[in-house]
Amino acid sequence: MKRNILLNPGPATISMRVKKAQLVPDICPREQEFGDLMAKISAGLLGFVKDAKDSSCVLFGGSGTLAVESTLASALDKSHKLAIIVNGAYGQRMCEIAKYHGLNYVVFQSSFLEPIDFLELEQFLQKERPDFLSVVHSETTSGLLNDLTQISKIAHPLGIKIIADCMSSFACYEISLNEVDFIIASSNKNIQGTAGISFVIAKNQNIMHAEFAKSLYLDLKAQYEYFIKHHQMRFTPPVQVAYALYEAILELQEEGLKNRFLRYQKSNAILRQGLEDLGFCIYPKSSHSVIITSIDIPKNMNFEELHQFCKNRGFTIYPGKIAGKEMFRIANIGEIDSYDMQLFLQVLQEFCQHTIINQKN
Ligand SMILES: *Cc1c(COP(=O)(O)O)cnc(C)c1O
Repeated sequence: MKRNILLNPGPATISMRVKKAQLVPDICPREQEFGDLMAKISAGLLGFVKDAKDSSCVLFGGSGTLAVESTLASALDKSHKLAIIVNGAYGQRMCEIAKYHGLNYVVFQSSFLEPIDFLELEQFLQKERPDFLSVVHSETTSGLLNDLTQISKIAHPLGIKIIADCMSSFACYEISLNEVDFIIASSNKNIQGTAGISFVIAKNQNIMHAEFAKSLYLDLKAQYEYFIKHHQMRFTPPVQVAYALYEAILELQEEGLKNRFLRYQKSNAILRQGLEDLGFCIYPKSSHSVIITSIDIPKNMNFEELHQFCKNRGFTIYPGKIAGKEMFRIANIGEIDSYDMQLFLQVLQEFCQHTIINQKN
């Protein structure tokens, strides 16, 4: 099978082993064996989180946004107040979710390319006194990494619970349930599975309090309780995606979370250095993750042409407008390594030369 290198921010390139895991005999997901598989998936995902005593991982069929929406809709009653840190498109999406569910929310607006001013955040929270604070850990929009340790040091003493969209940080960074009250992620990013399952990890006590959903499908507490009682999901799960996810969990256990972080970090360092050597202007300059890099598109460069040029050579890249600037993004996640980044940089160099030659003609 042709190997495509996906440099878009998820779904990521996955191994042949994970692809093959989806080819299973037909099974009714209401059978005991399938319940056992779901239980192993939950336990496996929980195993990648720090300080996860008396905690659970609640699985949903659906993409990552579903789990974000479920958490916000379930954890907050109309009488609660939510503060949302917005420094990218996924923070904005949480505002949209809050609006749909009629939640009482305020926005802490922060730069899309610069780290959060924590002093300002502290003053904001002291003034607003919300019950919950939601934040995107790794802002996939730009590559900015929001410091959960700092945020929890400010929010927790004020009695504020933290809901973190960890979609593009989970399974690379180790996240602590002492710092964050709700961790949300999905099957198709750093975990290196196929798309279709999202999940919420929290202390059992927090899940039991997430009882305010006005939506049947999104009810976090109901999803949790039903699984405990019946060893099944409430609604039909994506069966084959679950087999792939379990295989991806085994792969991550074998590689180790620390080693996955180091692999991504190495790819990211080589990518950033290579881009700078080619004369590209890259973002964020500081507080960037080891996952996503944003690149300014030079005026003489056409993104569509670049995209096609790269795609013809097996690399898929992704556009993105950030803070009014035309950019593209490279996510060095998935079953790829620093060697693939070097190959990509060669392709990029070829394209740059080809653009210059065309301009001279
Ligand atoms: C990918 C992603 C999501 C979820 O997007 P879906 O399209 O619903 O899978 C949410 N937040 C962040 C930060 C993401 O990177």
